[in-house]
Amino acid sequence: MSEETTTAGHPGGADAAVPQQARRAELAAALTRTRARLAAACRAAGRDPAEVSLIAVTKTYPARDALLLAELGVTDVGENRDQEAAPKAAEVAAAGVDLRWHFIGQLQRNKCRSVVRYADVVQSVDSVRLAAALDAAAAAGRDRPLDVLVQVSIDADPVRGGALPDDGDPDRGLGAVADRVATAGSLRLAGLMAVAPLGWEPERAFARLAGIAAGFRAAHPQAVLLSAGMSGDLETAVAHGATHVRVGSALLGMRSTLG
Ligand SMILES: *Cc1c(COP(=O)(O)O)cnc(C)c1O
Repeated sequence: MSEETTTAGHPGGADAAVPQQARRAELAAALTRTRARLAAACRAAGRDPAEVSLIAVTKTYPARDALLLAELGVTDVGENRDQEAAPKAAEVAAAGVDLRWHFIGQLQRNKCRSVVRYADVVQSVDSVRLAAALDAAAAAGRDRPLDVLVQVSIDADPVRGGALPDDGDPDRGLGAVADRVATAGSLRLAGLMAVAPLGWEPERAFARLAGIAAGFRAAHPQAVLLSAGMSGDLETAVAHGATHVRVGSALLGMRSTLG
């Protein structure tokens, strides 16, 4: 067993030998490029850039990258695994830095108690049972309500994540999940989140999402956030009304592990 094996803690992260200044310059350049893409996408869509928030997806990258991004003006970060996010958020807080943490990954009910302690927003609620568990955890573990986006499945494939649009399923139907969150004492229904299905053109995916979001907002007019778009498709998501884009690899670099 080589020593390298035991020190390879962040396979997708910056090499510890890379000086902090070099990493800072790299992140600054990527942030400038990403902000320019967002601004151009907003211009093309006739939207005010202030309407679209950037979430830096820091999964697989160390807390020091989140701290550098915060220095560079990033306010929101996204994570998809509790066992990685909880210590990272604690490290950032211990450094006295305030970031908004968005939980964007599949969430198991037994992780809710941990997630409600550091997350400001959970974007991946896709069942009534998960909403109930998150509500109970938030009631016990927080002193203010937790913002929730319901994750919706654009292609209505029940095998993958996401609540099912146009479906009366009592646990997975979008209407049932949204109503459960909206009536929860310790959750605040803030909007929808979606990921373009594999193999779909972003245009087709986000056009369909915009239709789903319009119906959803008719029932929940206060829930106006729409989290859609990643490194590869943020322009299309902005054209179809995204208020939040979740950008990982375009900011931090390609991940060597599946995230
Ligand atoms: C990893 C991830 C992202 C970021 O993806 P990139 O292609 O690296 O920008 C966005 N949303 C979710 C749900 C993710 O898991």
